[in-house]
Amino acid sequence: MINLVLFGSPGAGKGTQAARLEEKYDLVHISTGDVFRYNIKNETPLGKKAKSYIDDGRLVPDEVTIDMLHSEVQKNNGAKGFIFDGFPRTTAQAEDLDQLLKSMNSQVHAMLALTVDDEILVQRLLKRGETSGRKDDASEKIIRKRIKVYYDQTEVVKSYYQKVDKYYEVDGIGSVEEITDRLSEIVDQFT
Ligand code: AMP
Repeated sequence: MINLVLFGSPGAGKGTQAARLEEKYDLVHISTGDVFRYNIKNETPLGKKAKSYIDDGRLVPDEVTIDMLHSEVQKNNGAKGFIFDGFPRTTAQAEDLDQLLKSMNSQVHAMLALTVDDEILVQRLLKRGETSGRKDDASEKIIRKRIKVYYDQTEVVKSYYQKVDKYYEVDGIGSVEEITDRLSEIVDQFT
């Protein structure tokens, strides 16, 4: 298996790049944000638990997120590997992912972090909000809060992977194709 974590602030381009890498390397793409939004749309118990956090730009509690991630991984038994997009966002989630993959005799091979200047992120997300229909993209206040949550709660996950030499930073500014090429140079080391 090859397991990749795509990392970066909201709006860094994780979803776009994950979809491209999914196809290129035949991996299963799990976006925790997408799974939550699907559940909110379908008014499932999970969606009801997650909605208020997401609309407000806060993280969904770890135990809810971790349970959901486990069931998504289990649904894809036999996959060649996974691209985790938007997970882990806390150290507890990173520790849990290690345990989960270990139980499958595997591991995280690389964390690929897309770097983009904060003001560009705000502009990108406001633009995305014109068409995404996402409440959390619709207001600059919530967008800035999500970026702050990233710095306060999520950025520490970077050092978690740095310590084990699995952290790779990629410039997230450029064309979609250029950024896929930059990411592929790293992923190719593991294929
Ligand atoms: P995203 O689509 O990755 O931007 O995620 C949208 C929202 O879903 C986030 O702002 C959080 O409220 C929630 N979310 C997604 N992934 C996680 C996670 N790993 N931990 C906690 N909350 C999450």
